[in-house]
Amino acid sequence: MSYGLNIDRIKKHAKYFMRFLDVLPANLASHDCTRGTIVFFAVCGLDVLNSLDLITEARRKHIIDWIYGNLVTPRPEHRCCSGFQGGRFVMIKNDNEELLENVRCFQWGHLAMTYTSIGVLITLGDDLSRLDRKIIVDGVAAVQRSDGSFSACIDGSEHDMRFVFCAAAICHMLDYWGDVNKEKMYQFIMNSIRYDNGFSQHTYGEGHGGTTYCALAALELSGQLNRISAAALEDIKRWCIFRQVNGFQGRPNKPADTCYSFWIGAALQILNAFHLTDFDSNRSYVLETQDNVVGGFAKWPQSTTDPFHTYLGICGLTFTEKGGESLLAEIMPSLNISKRAYENLKILHSKWSFQNVEDGYQGTFRNLAKELTETKISVEEDELVTSPLIRAQ
Ligand SMILES: [Zn+2]
Repeated sequence: MSYGLNIDRIKKHAKYFMRFLDVLPANLASHDCTRGTIVFFAVCGLDVLNSLDLITEARRKHIIDWIYGNLVTPRPEHRCCSGFQGGRFVMIKNDNEELLENVRCFQWGHLAMTYTSIGVLITLGDDLSRLDRKIIVDGVAAVQRSDGSFSACIDGSEHDMRFVFCAAAICHMLDYWGDVNKEKMYQFIMNSIRYDNGFSQHTYGEGHGGTTYCALAALELSGQLNRISAAALEDIKRWCIFRQVNGFQGRPNKPADTCYSFWIGAALQILNAFHLTDFDSNRSYVLETQDNVVGGFAKWPQSTTDPFHTYLGICGLTFTEKGGESLLAEIMPSLNISKRAYENLKILHSKWSFQNVEDGYQGTFRNLAKELTETKISVEEDELVTSPLIRAQ
């Protein structure tokens, strides 16, 4: 029986993702507070399936507005809790100021929700003009810990390599690192390489495929991958390549799981070593886990599908596709969004960079105006355009 990808199956997988934009099934009810990530898998999944046109223009705007509605902006003199939440569960409309004040104590951005929310906005073609890049990155810097790792949110949470990746992805996407300490981040990542050359969640943990992706992607996104010695890179490649069984496993002696075709596959893409793997057996494994009736992918064959393994399974497959024949869009491994979306992001980066230069000129003119005013030559201050733009690093 052939499990290959064809137009019919692409349509089924696209329909599968569209369903999650309508309703969250009962078995995923516990994910209600992280609904932003489900939207990320659905929207970015449709993009990789070249099926983003299934989202109508009205719905595109609705999703963008919904995402912005999850944005938490700290009030002056309050703790720096900026970022996106995964839903509206603590965003209530009420006239009772005391009640609102109590609810605000539970509103804070979450690094994973912020990363996925910005990913959705970029994929849907939003220009991020409703975001204050500095405030968002202030929120990222506020959750960096003294060992260089990051918590998910200001109210305390797990702090490990997952959130190091999210922090690096957010700063890279916003082209701004502000007070984030990249050196400490680097040291944390390097201290997490284990004896077998896989990266763990934190110092003294076990080497793991998902964590190894997070570490390598964070290093690439922060421009620090070239700090690792050539010999160490070879050892990391070896650990990754040895995770292939037919598909990929996350750790030694574990069974293959669809999502590791992305985690390990993307790690090897970042290291330019994916060509050393067996494409056919990897591809066969992932395709065996797809549901041929209603679409979607599972972690194992004959198991229940979910949006997480569906998105990562499809992304993993993109690495094994043959260029011109591919039905799938290429992805940018270290950000886990399509290359098409990444190209749109790079256009935004150029605009921001140009505006920063313009802002510099305006500063020069403002100084000149000040000098002229001081020498009693009248200049209308209003004629000088001001801009809240942020200097990119
Ligand atoms: Zn998995």
